[in-house]
Amino acid sequence: MSYFNRIMDQITEITSSSTCPVCQRKSQQSIKKIGKKQTLLCPHCKSIFVNPD
Ligand SMILES: [Zn+2]
Repeated sequence: MSYFNRIMDQITEITSSSTCPVCQRKSQQSIKKIGKKQTLLCPHCKSIFVNPD
């Protein structure tokens, strides 16, 4: 179980580029948030969005 938790912690650190639907600019977002369909914050225009994928 501790091994699984460690993997999850590492996944949290991994980021993927996500395109903001408002300003169309890319930013690095946690893949954990993307996978869970959590809201992402665009660092360029401060819009909150959910990754369409
Ligand atoms: Zn944006």
